[in-house]
Amino acid sequence: MPRRDIKTIADHLYWSYANLAMAHAALSKGDETYSGVHFIVRARLYSGLQEGRMRVGSLIEDDRAKLALPRACCYCGAASRLSLDHLWPKSHGGSESSDNIVWCCLCCNSAKGARDVLDWLKARGVFPPLLLLRRYLKLAIRYCRENALMDEPLQSEVACGLPFSLESVPHEFPHPRDLILHVAPRSGPSADRPASQGIRGLDRRSEEDVS
Ligand SMILES: [Zn+2]
Repeated sequence: MPRRDIKTIADHLYWSYANLAMAHAALSKGDETYSGVHFIVRARLYSGLQEGRMRVGSLIEDDRAKLALPRACCYCGAASRLSLDHLWPKSHGGSESSDNIVWCCLCCNSAKGARDVLDWLKARGVFPPLLLLRRYLKLAIRYCRENALMDEPLQSEVACGLPFSLESVPHEFPHPRDLILHVAPRSGPSADRPASQGIRGLDRRSEEDVS
C-alpha cells in the first residue's frame, strides 16, 4: 500500500532508501523482525533526507565494499565464467563507470539480458540484496539530483522516461530474516543454477553503515 504522502520522485526514492536503512540496521543486528526502534531509524532518515539534514552516503563507499568482496557473480555467487554487468543497462543510458558495473556470471548475464536489474529480480520473485539495492538507489538519487528531477510528480511524463525502473524501486521490504546483504560467493560452475538460487548463500555478517 503506497503512502499517501509520497507524491514526488524524491519522496519515492527517499522512502525506499529509509526502508533500506531500517532493513540494514535490523539485519546487521541479527533481528528477525522489525520493531519500534527500526521504525524510528526509518522515520528519522526519511524526514532528514526530505529536509536536507541528512545525506545519502557516497558511492565511493559502495565501491570500497565491492572491492572488499571476493570476485563472484553478484546475483548467484558463481566464481567462474564471470563477465561485467551494468546495473542500469547501457541501452537505457547506463554509464561505464565502476559504480554502475558489477560482476556477473555468463548464465545470469544471459538470463538478465538488457533488462534493468530490479525489473529482472522482481520478475523472478527475488528481493535484491541490500548492498546491491543501496547502490542502485544511490545511482538513482544522484541522477535525479543532477538533472533536477527530484521534485517531479511521480505520475509525470518525466518520471516515466527515467533510465532506471522507478516502478521496481521497493517500498515493501521483507522481514530481515528473509534478506541478505549480498550473495555469498560459491565455487563450481554457474551455468547449471538459476540466479534466484543465489539467495541460498546468505551473508548476514557485514556491519557496514547503510548510509
Ligand atoms: Zn550468476
